[in-house]
Amino acid sequence: MKTIGLIGGMSWESTAHYYRVINQETAARLGGLHSAPLIVHSVDFAPIAAMQSAGDWDGAGSELAAIAKGLEQAGAEVIGLATNTMHIVADQIIAATSVPFVHIADPTSQALLDDGFETVGLLGTRFTMEMSFYRDRLAERGLTALIPEVDRTNLNGIIYDELCRGIVREESRRIYMTAIDRLAARGAEAVILGCTEITMLIDDSVSPLPVYDTTDLHAKSLVTAALA
Ligand code: GLU
Repeated sequence: MKTIGLIGGMSWESTAHYYRVINQETAARLGGLHSAPLIVHSVDFAPIAAMQSAGDWDGAGSELAAIAKGLEQAGAEVIGLATNTMHIVADQIIAATSVPFVHIADPTSQALLDDGFETVGLLGTRFTMEMSFYRDRLAERGLTALIPEVDRTNLNGIIYDELCRGIVREESRRIYMTAIDRLAARGAEAVILGCTEITMLIDDSVSPLPVYDTTDLHAKSLVTAALA
């Protein structure tokens, strides 16, 4: 199995999920005491979040590209970036490294297409919902992504003010469920949890639409890439 390099800490709450899923999936596939050869570079999220707010994507991209390079030098043979939002700078990371990079939107779109869906709801930070980088990647694969028409500021705030700090509130769960209901009314057949923390709030047991959790799908696809 190849060594996985994971750029994490955005937030550390979701990176903890990645760590668990990557190892559980490795054990499920290889059996026995197998676990994943894995190097995690977990950043301090505060300065990255400040660069996001300032729109300094070049600055954030240079920083994450340098980290990816460091992971490669440390022995990583496949690289994953444990946040949907920061895939805004995926091209900078790919340009700085020579090992495969598993883009979080790819296993997600594959799972949706395998299940026969074409029109999906997309929930995430305002960057992921409003900028085109994520929806374009889905569109290239034949998926139409709908984003909430209302309440995006609130949905975004719940991610940064609550989930990234480990706070899970029933009221926030209801806000997300209402957003999913509205997406369903507009024709979404399934919903992408397009932020790696939303899995703390929403799963199939509470969602009005089938849920596609990017944290789980991305972590498992990193294992697939490492075993290829
Ligand atoms: N983890 C989140 C995501 O998947 C949000 C935090 C960030 O902005 O990186 O988009």
